[in-house]
Amino acid sequence: MDFNAFREKMVLRQLVDRGIKDQRVISAFLKVPRHLFVEEALRERAYGDYPLPIGMNQTISQPYMVALMCELLELKGNEKVLEIGTGSGYETAILAELAERVFSIERIDSLMQTSRSVLDSLKYNNVVTKVADGTYGWREESPFDGIVVTAASPKIPTRLLSQLAVNRHLVIPKGDAFSQMLYKITKTDKGFDTKDITGCVFVKLIGKDGWEN
Ligand code: SAH
Repeated sequence: MDFNAFREKMVLRQLVDRGIKDQRVISAFLKVPRHLFVEEALRERAYGDYPLPIGMNQTISQPYMVALMCELLELKGNEKVLEIGTGSGYETAILAELAERVFSIERIDSLMQTSRSVLDSLKYNNVVTKVADGTYGWREESPFDGIVVTAASPKIPTRLLSQLAVNRHLVIPKGDAFSQMLYKITKTDKGFDTKDITGCVFVKLIGKDGWEN
């Protein structure tokens, strides 16, 4: 299986043709071996235009959605970012290519064990993870130069807004259990500026400021 060829085709057809422009995002997608973030039986489908199951009723997000969320953070390379919902660890790896340090929180321990071992084997030493309810954020490490939530929330967790640095962005899908809108919320010195980006479908964010389990 020529995974490099699959990966190049994914980047062209699914990302570039749909408007992803940030060259650093494109380079990260060309580099990170997405097939290693899914179980062996699913590897040949890893570069397809869809999410895939990763166990525990969770999914690795569609490549385009990961690219869009990462591009919206407008990272240059010297940032400290927070990801809520490590899942497979794929988006974590992309963020580790785009920022200086990545803090990532997952609520399901078994998913974290798998993603942590893949991230370690790929030598992503700039990633710090913990198993917790990510709707609380990671206060000791705040403020963050970007926060991305990779699960659907019924509301915007206020703690995440308070842990964001000024002029930086929180990217989060918000809506009901079946469909959501992806929002880019920018913290300004006067308050927050909210932009709708696109309709989307994510698994549920479960926790204090998310859905009940
Ligand atoms: N970016 C990941 C997305 C995984 S799906 C990937 O592409 O692989 C979303 C993940 O969010 C799931 O693993 C789910 O368990 C996790 N999650 C849901 N609620 C959470 C919470 N309150 N805190 C941390 N993680 C949460």
